[in-house]
Amino acid sequence: MQIIDGKKIAQQERESLQKKVAALSSQKKRVPGLCTILVGDDAASQVYIRNKQKAVESCGMYNVHYQLSHTCSEEELLELIEKANQDQAIDGILVQLPLPKHINEKKVIYAIDPLKDVDGFHPENVGLLSIGTPRFVACTPKGVLRLLENINYDLTGKNAVVVGRSNIVGKPMAQLLLNKNATVTICHKDTQDLAFHTKQADVLVTAVGKPNLITKQHVKREAVILDVGINKLPNGKLTGDIDFDDVKNHVQAITPVPGGVGPMTIAMLLDNTFLAYQIHEGILST
Ligand code: NAD
Repeated sequence: MQIIDGKKIAQQERESLQKKVAALSSQKKRVPGLCTILVGDDAASQVYIRNKQKAVESCGMYNVHYQLSHTCSEEELLELIEKANQDQAIDGILVQLPLPKHINEKKVIYAIDPLKDVDGFHPENVGLLSIGTPRFVACTPKGVLRLLENINYDLTGKNAVVVGRSNIVGKPMAQLLLNKNATVTICHKDTQDLAFHTKQADVLVTAVGKPNLITKQHVKREAVILDVGINKLPNGKLTGDIDFDDVKNHVQAITPVPGGVGPMTIAMLLDNTFLAYQIHEGILST
């Protein structure tokens, strides 16, 4: 059984990007820039955005951060996004979600220039993924795929099951697996007999948010398991959707929580920002 070390793989991804950015700096070229926007003072969101800013800076990229009050109007936020859309020093724009109730999240996502949409939430980027020509792919599912690539797992013809159908994880994950020629099943809260489906999985990705939802009886022997779930237990410990101890000796490979998929999300944000830079500089075509 292999424990897929997401922390180490994410670190390697970050170091590789750091080198590419350092090479730009040493050639006196512009470095990639990410604009981060936080509305309000939700404690968890503050931690998430700070971690993203730190990662951008430690990679040598440029970060400009805007902190807006929780009472700011939708217009104010849309104006700021438009300013960032026009700013030549900014390649990527990230608005931390969720937004306060009085702001229409959909309008905000649509307002971001699709060529700066490093979260991959804009319908243009979602559409490109679904027709098999991805540009910016949501960071978490992109990170899961990168883990599979890292262990040289060939998805062609494999049964892949994704549990969870959110726009940010489950659906783009399923599209990525399909694009890699897996036979894909998506399960969700209304799925009847979850175990029937998950037991077919050569590759199982869970993005639900329910601790120990998946046990040995849900898992095929020698499956590869990627656990996106992050759940805080009453004792303060973090755990995924998989009962790790129950399944670990039954499977071929598995990601731990923490230290599996989580670190890959930020690494893929940096990757998308670098990709946005290459597109803006004309190094890559869209
Ligand atoms: P979400 O709440 O938007 O979606 C959860 C999905 O689970 C839904 O599609 C729902 O249909 C499905 N579901 C709920 N109960 C189910 C059940 N009993 N059986 C089968 N399916 C069921 O959540 P999300 O934003 O997609 O996040 C999912 C989990 O992944 C959460 O724990 C979240 O914290 C975590 N997450 C982790 C990262 C990371 O970087 N590792 C990033 C995003 C989300």
